Amino acid sequence: MKMSKSLPLKIMSDSLFEKSIQVSEDEFGEELDAFMSEMLITMYANQGVGLAGVQVGDPRRFLVADISFADGRPYRSESLKVVNPRVLATSEETTSYKEQCLSYPGLSRKVDRPKSIIVEYYTPFGERRTEEFEDDCATILSHEIDHLDGVTLYTRMSKASRDRYNKKLSKKLNNLADGLKKRVKNTSR
Ligand SMILES: [Zn+2]
Repeated sequence: MKMSKSLPLKIMSDSLFEKSIQVSEDEFGEELDAFMSEMLITMYANQGVGLAGVQVGDPRRFLVADISFADGRPYRSESLKVVNPRVLATSEETTSYKEQCLSYPGLSRKVDRPKSIIVEYYTPFGERRTEEFEDDCATILSHEIDHLDGVTLYTRMSKASRDRYNKKLSKKLNNLADGLKKRVKNTSR
């Protein structure tokens, strides 16, 4: 049996602010497809609905997403592998969902996004597709495409709420470290 591996996530890394680079023609194929399957495994293992390459330390322009449910109703059964996406059109009408991000634990923010977007992209095998996404599916795609442009929920926050979030997170990490220390102490008795 082959063990499926999960990729390490980049948490609060400066590399998340970098723009991803286009996948070139000779990179399409089996290997890219297999890597994006590993990204899907990582995404599901962390209860995510979307994951961009940059979040697992790959600076190339691709993402995976699960859009099997849109607003609670079945939408599309397969998971998505999206390479070199380009947003062709966005609706004027917007919508906002409380978004979370695997790269920023504990952060959740409402962001205004287009209610529908039309995206041109390639499959890992280089097949071109054009698709329209709506509602929370449009939000998932927009959030992940943002990542490829170096934009995150964190980038969209004001300086004050960033400071608040940083404080909350370091407190959480300290508590975690204290808990671990206590556990080590107790077990060594
Ligand atoms: Zn994210």
